[in-house]
Amino acid sequence: MKKMKAACLTKIPKEIEVQEIPVPEIGENEFLVKMHACSLCYTDVKACVHGKHFYIELYGLPWTPGHEMAGEIAAVGDQVTGYSVGQRVAVAPFNPCLECPPCKLGAYRFCHKAPGSFVQPGGFAEYFKVPGEGAHLRTLVLQDSVSYEEAALVEPVASCLHAVRKAGVPQGSTAAVIGAGPMGLILMQLAKAEGAAKVFMVDVDDQRLEQALDFGADEVINSAKENANQAIRLKTGFMGADVVFEAVGSAQTYLLALEMARGGGAVSLFGGMPGGSTVEIPSELLHYHELTITGTSSFSPDDYKNALELIEAGKIDVKRLISHRFDSLDGVLEAINLSLDKQGLKKVVLL
Ligand SMILES: [Zn+2]
Ligand SMILES: [Zn+2]
Repeated sequence: MKKMKAACLTKIPKEIEVQEIPVPEIGENEFLVKMHACSLCYTDVKACVHGKHFYIELYGLPWTPGHEMAGEIAAVGDQVTGYSVGQRVAVAPFNPCLECPPCKLGAYRFCHKAPGSFVQPGGFAEYFKVPGEGAHLRTLVLQDSVSYEEAALVEPVASCLHAVRKAGVPQGSTAAVIGAGPMGLILMQLAKAEGAAKVFMVDVDDQRLEQALDFGADEVINSAKENANQAIRLKTGFMGADVVFEAVGSAQTYLLALEMARGGGAVSLFGGMPGGSTVEIPSELLHYHELTITGTSSFSPDDYKNALELIEAGKIDVKRLISHRFDSLDGVLEAINLSLDKQGLKKVVLL
């Protein structure tokens, strides 16, 4: 049996070692991808620290993290159509069945079958296999102009695009993004690409805010130094932002997002909080301010496709989001530690 290397979480918290495991064997309706780029998502970081991930809950440890992947097709089962060995692809970590009731409503994240068809063993491995069924929804062939590292970032861009489209960013509107981490920077770029005339970036870290200006934010607000709600009102003729994206995931910033939106505006709650978290919100913000509040997590096949198109068209700069590149799977633990220390932006393993 052919062996390969994979980063494996063997114990909670954060015991990660590179192990030799069998290269996944493919069935006639599956294909094998040689991983060339996998970027670390904060969801992986949280899963490695707390062990809370549906795959760990289903199958236990060891578990191979990573779901932002791109690579080259290395083998294709007999029944797979439309794909061939040698194609460069971006692979989304989902496989909605399109037939169950949530899929039929377009709520793919809630597909009754999705968890069972996740890529195996995970992105931080030399090879991973994906189901051939519905492959066109999740496996996109790359243009030569798109590098593997850019293709790995289609996934986080798709998640942000899902949030931006659900909240809606009207032409000429004013948007605010709370949290200037990698996802906040993607949300900011997407809000502009979708039509925002002005985007404010809010964070507590001056260095991150400087960086946000570099990435194209129009104005920044340090919410540790000034009252961000007052600041945005002063800068918008006492209106507030038309749409606010929360990309931190804390009770305090959920509340701030609702406060910063104008009456009748929209708020996108993008940042996730640990299960069981609650948020206390003054009722007038919910009722009298007539806000439209959307929550998103994950994305649809169309978001994934459109995210790649935006990268191809140069409308979203994902290359500059990559702060750390590792040339072996041994880098996964360091990447996790850097993320926990809030160092840098996206960390990518390139093989
Ligand atoms: Zn992700
Ligand atoms: Zn389904």
